[in-house]
Amino acid sequence: MVKVERSMPAPESLAIEEKKKNGKYNLPDVVDRLRSDFNNKCYLCETKGLQDPEVEHLLPHCNRKYLERVFDWDNLFWSCKHCNDVKNQEEYSNGIIDCCKNDPEELLLFLYKDNDIAIIPKDEENRLAVITSKLLNEIYNLKNTGIRIAACEVRKDGVAMQMNQLYKAITKYRKNPNSKLNSRMLKVLLNTESEYAAFKRSYIRENKDLYPDVYGLIDEE
Ligand SMILES: [Zn+2]
Repeated sequence: MVKVERSMPAPESLAIEEKKKNGKYNLPDVVDRLRSDFNNKCYLCETKGLQDPEVEHLLPHCNRKYLERVFDWDNLFWSCKHCNDVKNQEEYSNGIIDCCKNDPEELLLFLYKDNDIAIIPKDEENRLAVITSKLLNEIYNLKNTGIRIAACEVRKDGVAMQMNQLYKAITKYRKNPNSKLNSRMLKVLLNTESEYAAFKRSYIRENKDLYPDVYGLIDEE
């Protein structure tokens, strides 16, 4: 989960559909804008190029009981089906970190080691950080159904692949730090638009003593 810049104003169809009985919140203008704003990544698991994208409501509308939440542009997020399903639990219904308003990387650590994934709140007293870390840990580690085991494996493999690419790019960069191509490659891998970016960026930040040179490349244009 990384910070996302939501574009404004809201897609036009939302205000029009809101006035209709059973209006739609997922017309093409909304879908196109979400896919673009969220860099074609699920805002929760950071999987890119979703085959089964969904328009997720950060605060659930509970079968349109909270009608204002249905069409509120600030409440619509780009999500995969797996994450949408996992999030659909009472304990997450009062909200999680809004990655368009707060930077999740300032609140959470995204750890990957030996094929284990853990998301840890930096401040145990921060309720939103704690509840969001619980949700994200479930998203990568739930094993309560066969489909979820498979979905978690795909995401873990994806994180592993990105981490391997990062290690390789660091080795190349260190062999030849003056190569524009090598530094460019690292910047692309560390950009928030890249897949599973939170894990790669967290790794470099947590090991900043080992990688002071690479640390300097995070968020460098
Ligand atoms: Zn997801």
